Amino acid sequence: MLYLKINSYRITFSVLLLSLIILLPTSIWAGKYNHPPQYRIRTIVIDAGHGDNDIGARGRISVEKNLNLQIALKLGKAIEAELKDVKVYYTRTTDVLIDLYKRAEFANQKKADIYISVHCNSMPNITRRVVSRYKRNRKGKRTPVYKTTRMPNTTTSGTETFVSGYGRTGEQDVAIRENASILLEENYKNNYDGFDPNDPESVIVFSLMKNQFREQSIKLAAAVQHEYAKSHREDRGVKEQSLAVLARTGMPAILTEVGFISNPEEEIYLNSENGQQEIVNNIVNAVKSYKRQIEN
Ligand SMILES: [Zn+2]
Repeated sequence: MLYLKINSYRITFSVLLLSLIILLPTSIWAGKYNHPPQYRIRTIVIDAGHGDNDIGARGRISVEKNLNLQIALKLGKAIEAELKDVKVYYTRTTDVLIDLYKRAEFANQKKADIYISVHCNSMPNITRRVVSRYKRNRKGKRTPVYKTTRMPNTTTSGTETFVSGYGRTGEQDVAIRENASILLEENYKNNYDGFDPNDPESVIVFSLMKNQFREQSIKLAAAVQHEYAKSHREDRGVKEQSLAVLARTGMPAILTEVGFISNPEEEIYLNSENGQQEIVNNIVNAVKSYKRQIEN
């Protein structure tokens, strides 16, 4: 009897031990998946390009800095209204100029999960050689006198979104224009590792900075372009450029050019309530789809 009793204790103990061995790893496994170390997009920094005496590109009825700010503020409001778990910070909410490196620093301090810089595009003027008058040469022959005129390029339109990288030489119009803000900053040579805005090759400095968020940035940029295209905006694609405002951000970061201020028709769209709302909806939808892709 005593022997049997001990034996039954032993059996109970063994069953307990066995169930522990079986259940313990499963419960650890279950626990892991009930509370995984989830990646969540909680903080977004929105950057309205330019500001104050850095007006950005100029259109016929508006300047870029103001459109960027209007769209950025609307974008932030829309994100917070539609994505309740996301907090939005702005690099600027008024007409002030903030150094480009400080914008990136701000996003890093806020531990942003996404950085979106809003800009308007512009085409450089077209230069043409035209006959201004005629003069007679020594032999009395009538010869033309040429002069160079600059005409605004008003035909290009559409959207494009940039990620930090190395753009090919000759395709750096946007990089040169958007980086030019640095000229208005004091000590830019110290703050940008010897960057010289007068040397076109100097933009390479920014592309050499390690971009460990390249893939995610491209994913987000592609989502934004996809949404613009759905609204029948011309899609000029996702591009890599050496952009100072993106180079030092420690998170997926994009610079989206929402349209050409140099195109009169598109400038009207950019200034309109409907146009701005459509752009805002496009970017919000892109953030949502990126969020779905990236969050586990
Ligand atoms: Zn700009």
